[in-house]
Amino acid sequence: MLEVVETFVSINGEGQKAGQLACFIRMKGCNLNCTYCDTKWANQEDTPFQNKTKEELYEWVKESGVKNVTITGGEPLLQKEIGALLELFAKDDELNVEIETNGSVDIRPFLFEKNAPSFTLDYKLGGSKMDSFMLVENYKYISNKDTVKFVCKDEADFYQALSVIKKYQLTNITKVYLSTAFGELSPKDMVELMKKEKLNGVHLQLQMHKYIWNPEKKGV
Ligand code: SF4
Repeated sequence: MLEVVETFVSINGEGQKAGQLACFIRMKGCNLNCTYCDTKWANQEDTPFQNKTKEELYEWVKESGVKNVTITGGEPLLQKEIGALLELFAKDDELNVEIETNGSVDIRPFLFEKNAPSFTLDYKLGGSKMDSFMLVENYKYISNKDTVKFVCKDEADFYQALSVIKKYQLTNITKVYLSTAFGELSPKDMVELMKKEKLNGVHLQLQMHKYIWNPEKKGV
């Protein structure tokens, strides 16, 4: 069984498929506690959830007619049966599955040979107070279909992101996205920093869903 707090169809607000429709599956619980977390409600012990089988989730996706699947949380890779769910999805060539993971969990068990999911790995910066949990070993196993994402709260976060990008030469191995913590560092200031540092090969991304709907709205 998988502990699911919500399923819905919407556009991907971020990532390589931003703007495209996707089936969202949000899992309960997280091992981190970021200062700016916008899904704390999904992480608490007493958060209501439904136990779903992998087959139920697969059938829901197929019935929706939408081929992108975004599995998020919380931290979805902590679910005991997440491997079995991903294996089931991987058997269906029509589906494009993306996992949004917080960067603290080993991705190696999910690197299937055929139709593996793509990973969006967060790198939690100092502003989150969770940077000591980052598992940079994961960078050995990612490619251009995957993404490393940095959410910056302030200028110090931006420069920490820069040093991580350079240290692991991330732009040579994967897609790199910079995002601002909503309501903190402004996107305009981020662009100025990117210009100042002549930052090539890195994307600024805005969380599109927070501009389309009320930023607090769930299920979009
Ligand atoms: S990793 Fe994500 S879900 Fe977990 S506390 Fe941080 S922002 Fe929230």
